[in-house]
Amino acid sequence: MTLAARISRLGTESAFTVLARAEALRAAGRSVINLGIGQPDFATPDHVVEAAVRALHDGHHGYTPANGILPLREAVAADLAARQGVEIDPDCVLIVPGGKVTMFFAILMAGEPGAEILYPDPGFPIYRSAIEFSGATPVPIPLREETGFAFSADEVLSRITPATRLLIVNSPGNPTGGVVPRAEIDRLAAGLEAHPQVTILSDEIYSRLIYSGEPHTCLLAYPAIRDRVILLDGWSKSYAMTGWRLGYGVWPAAWVEGATRLAINSFSCVNAASQWAGIVALEGPQGSVEEMRIAFDERRRVILAALNKLPGVSCVEPWGAFYAMPNITGTGMTAREAEYRLLEEAGVATIAGTSFGEHGEGHLRFSYAASLDDIAEAMTRIEALLAC
Ligand code: PLP
Repeated sequence: MTLAARISRLGTESAFTVLARAEALRAAGRSVINLGIGQPDFATPDHVVEAAVRALHDGHHGYTPANGILPLREAVAADLAARQGVEIDPDCVLIVPGGKVTMFFAILMAGEPGAEILYPDPGFPIYRSAIEFSGATPVPIPLREETGFAFSADEVLSRITPATRLLIVNSPGNPTGGVVPRAEIDRLAAGLEAHPQVTILSDEIYSRLIYSGEPHTCLLAYPAIRDRVILLDGWSKSYAMTGWRLGYGVWPAAWVEGATRLAINSFSCVNAASQWAGIVALEGPQGSVEEMRIAFDERRRVILAALNKLPGVSCVEPWGAFYAMPNITGTGMTAREAEYRLLEEAGVATIAGTSFGEHGEGHLRFSYAASLDDIAEAMTRIEALLAC
């Protein structure tokens, strides 16, 4: 049996490995607090669940169009118009099973040997994995804690070459919780006008989880570059629907046909009941989205204060998503050692910063999508471990 060489270039997402280890420890009777996995600890709102059940009773059991049902694509367009003030054509929307699929397709469509793709480091690990899989050269954009893990537009622009095909941006960001200030995005968008060969993948999956009071900046709102922007968003984080596998991409008109063919060649269409529920999520009451955001904000403040009290640990304020990325160099441990010891000795699952790229060394990612009690207990356990 011989595997194609590109398979050996695929990376992975350590959050799932840590989750499996945490479950194994639990199964062996250990108490484990999971601050590793990045998913809301809330249930999907009832009215959305009911919509899916109704769709099944109404007989939505078959294939749908590969790009998604029209009412859902129209609901996405209406939502973007209402929230971001951007007008899009529902025919440029491709409904996919989760946010990840848009990034995989975009990277496959842009990447090949000889092409360069810029991506954030530390950043969502699938960016680099998919870039290497595609054969393109990954070019990291370092994100630094001095700037709250926001990129510098000048630094991004300075890394663009004639071979650059795709630029990946992610604000609010995983794993850092960093939010790029509007002025920096303005500068990036203006600078990109000089580089028409570059398509931009804007991963805005955490756009509804911002705590600064500032509105989210959508890259589709920049007329000079909008016909080169692929917008990635979905239902997973905003509506606590990670297990439903429902996401979307808004594609440049010239790319949507290729992306749809990738869909037809891989998953055919997203399950129909999820799609009908997705409409109700977007069009129904939005109270639960705000309730979750407020709950995350409270946990964010609690974990930030607690992390900054730990010896050898300091954490810049995360302004979005549900992650905190403290610097742990003062503990004397590497990121990987800290991840290991916190899980095995203290029963607290976190993710080493190096799982998100080499610039994540010296850091750990904490997901605060956990109860206040769990956060408090985790901090007590870590404090005890660090005191030894
Ligand atoms: N983009 C980022 C930055 C993420 O953190 C995640 C999930 O953690 C995704 C995309 C993928 O979301 P989904 O679970 O909808 O595939």
